[in-house]
Amino acid sequence: MNFKSKLPQVTTSIFSVMSSLAKEYDAINLSQGFPDFNSDPKLINLVNQNMKDGHNQYAPMQGDFALRERISEKINALYGRKYNPHTEITITAGATQAIFTAIAATINKGDEVLIFTPAYDCYEPTIKLFGGIPISIQLQAPDFKIDWEQVSKYISNKTKLIIINSPHNPTGTVLNENDLLALSKIVSKNNVFILSDEVYEHIIYDGQKHQSVALNKVLASRSFIVASFGKTFHNTGWKVGYCVAPKELTAAFQQIHQYLVFSVNHPVQKALAEYLENPENYTSLSSFYQQKRDLFLTLLQDSRFTIIPSKGTYFQLLDYSEISSLSDIKFAEYLTKKHKVATIPISVFSKNKEDNKMIRVCFAKKEKTLIEAATILRNL
Ligand code: PMP
Ligand code: GLN
Repeated sequence: MNFKSKLPQVTTSIFSVMSSLAKEYDAINLSQGFPDFNSDPKLINLVNQNMKDGHNQYAPMQGDFALRERISEKINALYGRKYNPHTEITITAGATQAIFTAIAATINKGDEVLIFTPAYDCYEPTIKLFGGIPISIQLQAPDFKIDWEQVSKYISNKTKLIIINSPHNPTGTVLNENDLLALSKIVSKNNVFILSDEVYEHIIYDGQKHQSVALNKVLASRSFIVASFGKTFHNTGWKVGYCVAPKELTAAFQQIHQYLVFSVNHPVQKALAEYLENPENYTSLSSFYQQKRDLFLTLLQDSRFTIIPSKGTYFQLLDYSEISSLSDIKFAEYLTKKHKVATIPISVFSKNKEDNKMIRVCFAKKEKTLIEAATILRNL
């Protein structure tokens, strides 16, 4: 047999690797990003009810209309921009599928895509799959800020797409108003599109406001915005998210979407539409997670980790350079096997595998789990 992989360099994702290592060594799993507590019983009941009510056949290709309407209202209320639920919103099988489809719709052979590393792991292989060329701009620890002047130097007539992600996984940094302004200046001079990964839009701390590209007219007019209900409503296993984009972009997106998944879990969509009627279900999320972040940071106050508090997402970076000189991959392995706490080494998210001696922990966990894990970590 002569079968050639299209992505020969791709191996199993670090999230699967660390989660299975955690299982094997019976370690507390702070690696892969998911909560260890349940979704709101009200939402689970709504899904059950919609199944019992017979919503068990295909949803419309674009997604349940009521859900698209609720999303449109949410974006208008939060960011003051109207997306037409008929033509500008698609419900997807999680943000991963939305990202894949947006890249598939945009990228042709030889197109360059700017990504900021460390970057979430699905961007680069998807770009390559469609013949695109990922151009990594390495962000520097500890603040991982984007230097927009540097970015403009990377723009060429081949640049087709810029992928941004705020709040940012894995660093927990966020973009501010000036970042969006700088980006809008860059793209308005060039024919460049944007893929804005905003899956943690409702998880932002210390009173800051999420800077969606929907807030900015120039950016919104050329952006795919992707979101994930898994992150917002504590059910990463349901895999439902969405993509909003102007009409022309959504049309191209849906041409691919309809042959990739056609449509997404119907009773879950119906349930989400009803659940979104109460905005408190997502506006309360930041304070919910800020309590967890603060508890975890207080518990680690006297530890030997150097810590800059996460500004958004449910991830926290820990600099362990005072504890060990091992590489971050080896340190994460050692922590899991020897001390029974699984984390994520962040070098795997950068092209040159830049090792900042930092690991990522997920604090979307019960208080009990955070206390148990912190008790181990503070003694290192
Ligand atoms: N983007 C980022 C930055 C993420 O952390 C994740 C992980 N959930 C995704 C996209 C994918 O989201 P989903 O689970 O909805 O596919
Ligand atoms: N988004 C999750 C994280 O960052 C992982 C999702 C996955 O395993 N693909 O941990």
